[in-house]
Amino acid sequence: MRSSVRWLATTLLIITGCAENAQEDIRPDLSKFSICSVLSSSLPDSVYFPDDQVYQSQTDSYWATNQGELAAACRVTPRSREDVQKAMWVLSRSSKSSTFAVKSGGHSAVANTSNVESGVVIDLELLNHINVDTEIGIVDIGPGARWADVYRHVDMLPGIYGVAGGRAGSVGVGGYFVGGGLSVFTGTHGWACDNAVAFEIVLGNGSIVQASHRSHQDLFRVIKGGGSNFGIVTRVKTRLIPLERQIDVTQISYDWTQLPTVLEALSRYTAEADTEPETTVSVSIGGLMNGGAMLVTVVLTSLYDTYLSESLRPFFKIRHVFIQRQRRSQLDIARLYDSSEPKGFREHRTTTTVENDAFLLLMMARNFSDTVAPAMAKLKETGSQGGLLLQPLTLSHLRHSKDNMIGLHKAKEPLILISTVIRHSQPETDEKVEDLLLDHMRQANELALRRGSAHAWRYLNYAGIDTDPFEYHKGDDRLWSFVLATKEKYDPSNVFGEQIRDPFRINS
Ligand SMILES: Cc1cc2nc3c(=O)[nH]c(=O)nc-3n(C[C@H](O)[C@H](O)[C@H](O)COP(=O)(O)OP(=O)(O)OC[C@H]3O[C@@H](n4cnc5c(N)ncnc54)[C@H](O)[C@@H]3O)c2cc1C
Repeated sequence: MRSSVRWLATTLLIITGCAENAQEDIRPDLSKFSICSVLSSSLPDSVYFPDDQVYQSQTDSYWATNQGELAAACRVTPRSREDVQKAMWVLSRSSKSSTFAVKSGGHSAVANTSNVESGVVIDLELLNHINVDTEIGIVDIGPGARWADVYRHVDMLPGIYGVAGGRAGSVGVGGYFVGGGLSVFTGTHGWACDNAVAFEIVLGNGSIVQASHRSHQDLFRVIKGGGSNFGIVTRVKTRLIPLERQIDVTQISYDWTQLPTVLEALSRYTAEADTEPETTVSVSIGGLMNGGAMLVTVVLTSLYDTYLSESLRPFFKIRHVFIQRQRRSQLDIARLYDSSEPKGFREHRTTTTVENDAFLLLMMARNFSDTVAPAMAKLKETGSQGGLLLQPLTLSHLRHSKDNMIGLHKAKEPLILISTVIRHSQPETDEKVEDLLLDHMRQANELALRRGSAHAWRYLNYAGIDTDPFEYHKGDDRLWSFVLATKEKYDPSNVFGEQIRDPFRINS
């Protein structure tokens, strides 16, 4: 099999040798050849098959086991933007049934987002350059870099700086940026993608464009929050954020009985945090799904002094079982997150967004504890974990959100973003676990509707199989027409609509 592939590869090298010039009109029809063979010929030494070690290590690198076990026919590992260009040239001229997926850090757990059964994965792990320029205040990053690597570079600079990036260091740069990006700078700098000044993007036809405020402004807008629908990001230039001091991080754990009080504090913070945009709050409610009590943990961050913050004070006043306050660099914070979130589980997640309604949050958390956790315990999956993560989308955060596809800049009131996750080990229980999670979310959304607290916006980076991250956008005719027109302009053959299997694709 491999020798015939090599023969075909050599033969096709002649045909595809001109792939760099993406603007040429006359192209051979590649649909009759095995797509992986053609890619092998166009990109010798960069295409890996299931029996290659690199293929294995790349599938092991996915955050969620259930994503990693999808068996792609081959994995393309570009070393340059020109390699991505060649891959797109081949893929866009093959049959529409030649499916592909794009992977940066591989942190999405939803099947077929960054891996694809029997298709081609473009794995960007080697496009991982990081160049910091303190003179112009820009970090130039390859999409395959992980946030911990970015922070390591920034940490070595003279002076104190930050970058609006993932809180966990293992998260990849590419997927995070095209989904939006929550960070410790959200209140002062908006979504991480709002800090990007330019994206280099390989389009479906293989051409390369630089999208920024000055050129291809329409593409520059939709790539920020639009996911993998418009092209493959091969480079991001984003702002370096000068800091006066390292970041204050406080972790406080409470027992279950304190949940109503903690949620009241969260609700108050959400309403008032506008006055202290340098702070962030996240509340996680969950733990081991073994029938025991769930724990409530709050992470507070501040660019100044947490203890001097008025809006964070209520969290300190609640009786707690554990508290740890540290002043840390972004790299240390990323390590802290990484140590509390180990990889190697099967993961199911979904999300919703609601108005600032503490009672609704309490009902949701109790429902999870009373129904989902006991049902998980019955499945006897040792070590399975689950819960809810609640994060305020404050007005100071949303106000930055103008020039992107996230579209929440018109919000008059703050919102609360909810992410629910279950991590477990046994493939046989996948379906039951997914049903439990989705059922819980369905009930939560129904209750939110009944209480008048529902909101249609969904966060792409937390989306689950039941989520339409663009439902909210479709309700705004002007915005949605702009999105579709931009997609048509940059992907007229609908390569990303028809050849990726990502459930969050826009198939116009
Ligand atoms: C442990 C953990 C911590 C997290 N922490 C945060 C956090 O602090 N803040 C936050 O906002 N989110 C966070 N997330 C969510 C995370 O942002 C998303 O999962 C994000 O998609 C991960 O990006 P990635 O490159 O690792 O993912 P991948 O799985 O590689 O990609 C995700 C999606 O983006 C597309 N994509 C990837 N690269 C490109 C590219 N170069 N061009 C075009 N499309 C591309 C893929 O096709 C796929 O659809 C976290 C997730 C986990 C599991």
